[in-house]
Amino acid sequence: MIHRLTLAALLLTSTAPALAQPAAPAPVDPRVATLRDAALRDDVAYDIVEGMTTEVGQRLAGTEAEARARTWSAAKLKALGFKNVRIETYRMPVWVRGEERGEIVAPFPQKLQLTALGNSGATPAAGIEAEVVVFPTYGDLVAAPAGSLAGKIAYVGNAMMKTQDGSSYGQEGIARRAGPAVAAGKGAVAIVIRSIGTDTHRLPHTGSTNFPAGAAPIPAAALSVPDGKLVEAMATRGKPIRMKLLLTPRQVGEQESGNVIAEVPGTDPDAGVVLIGGHLDSWDLATGAIDDASGVAITAAAAKRILDSGKRPRRTIRVVWFGAEEVGGFGGRDYAARHGSERHAIAAESDFGADRVWRFETTLPDTAKAVSDRLASALAPLGIVRGAGNAGDGSDIAPTIALGVAGVDLNQSGLDYFDTHHTPDDTLDRVDPEKLRQNVAAWTAMLAIVADAPEEIGPVVRPAR
Ligand code: ZN
Ligand code: ZN
Repeated sequence: MIHRLTLAALLLTSTAPALAQPAAPAPVDPRVATLRDAALRDDVAYDIVEGMTTEVGQRLAGTEAEARARTWSAAKLKALGFKNVRIETYRMPVWVRGEERGEIVAPFPQKLQLTALGNSGATPAAGIEAEVVVFPTYGDLVAAPAGSLAGKIAYVGNAMMKTQDGSSYGQEGIARRAGPAVAAGKGAVAIVIRSIGTDTHRLPHTGSTNFPAGAAPIPAAALSVPDGKLVEAMATRGKPIRMKLLLTPRQVGEQESGNVIAEVPGTDPDAGVVLIGGHLDSWDLATGAIDDASGVAITAAAAKRILDSGKRPRRTIRVVWFGAEEVGGFGGRDYAARHGSERHAIAAESDFGADRVWRFETTLPDTAKAVSDRLASALAPLGIVRGAGNAGDGSDIAPTIALGVAGVDLNQSGLDYFDTHHTPDDTLDRVDPEKLRQNVAAWTAMLAIVADAPEEIGPVVRPAR
């Protein structure tokens, strides 16, 4: 092994062939740089997050609270000067939380911190008590023999690790998304999972689960991470664990939800819409500051900077605050059903909290590859690197992206996101105004480039996932 200082000296004095010279970076349009740098002093995004969390609070999809959030948002977007502000409603099935309690009754009686998963079934009013079968991972649950959980409560660990790109959520989150249906299929009377989260606080993480059509949902809850570890530690003692659960959520039938839409009109109606946004609804345990008041705020604040720049963009920028994302992406599907036939140049979503953007990715047609080079130059001063992945992330834009629309992703760091995601701790305290400003600057630069790009940005063909 070469000592690091020696290596550095060798590199400095080396006469070996130089590394291949990268192509010169694309120049940054001075207007883009000015808009970007001014956005580093942005207060609009924080004002939106502060206002939405203070004056509305939790915004569970399909409830009266989400309706109030739509009214608040339309007024806010109008006050900010956006054009064509409107609400598009649709109907969707609605689940609401009830009482939720749990405890270990044997062999070591302890109270538990838990919360019901969205679409969880209910226990009888007196609760249920049953033996717990502990599965360290989702794979272990899947491998359990048919019928082996009859009369039992299943526990699934499936510990989640911190990752910058958030990929562990996709991998470990299956315990929440699919575990309850699998447990029900093997006869379980209920399921508790270790929260899909990366913190060690005693706050459970909610989130949706799904049961197949026609199957009766079983009670399904997430334990806080420390309580999940507690169950796992008890299991090592080799004595049967008995748990008591009381969960009384209910389905309240079809209700109204909706998307809030605002625009910065462009000069060239044939150039395609630049669709940006995040989701307006939140889980009900907190005020949804990072998920996703921050996303709607970042994207709208950036669009407002283009609106106020004194020059109309070539392409219309359409800001959509989607409804009912958390509970199944109803707003995104309604948007694509209504607007999918309109030409869209780009779709981009912010739904990963309020941490700094660290990477961008694009999926662009060959005619517009130079757009990505200009983004690389304009975003580099914000500490943002170019990734090589497929862009178009975000469940709200997914149905539009699926129609072949090009995408730009501005990836936020996921290292801390899952500490508070879907917990009672998702409050304004988690939002760092400086990091929010870096996001606004990145989105402003991106919008200034893509909305005005002279290239045609048409449909793209993505590799199958
Ligand atoms: Zn979200
Ligand atoms: Zn969420």
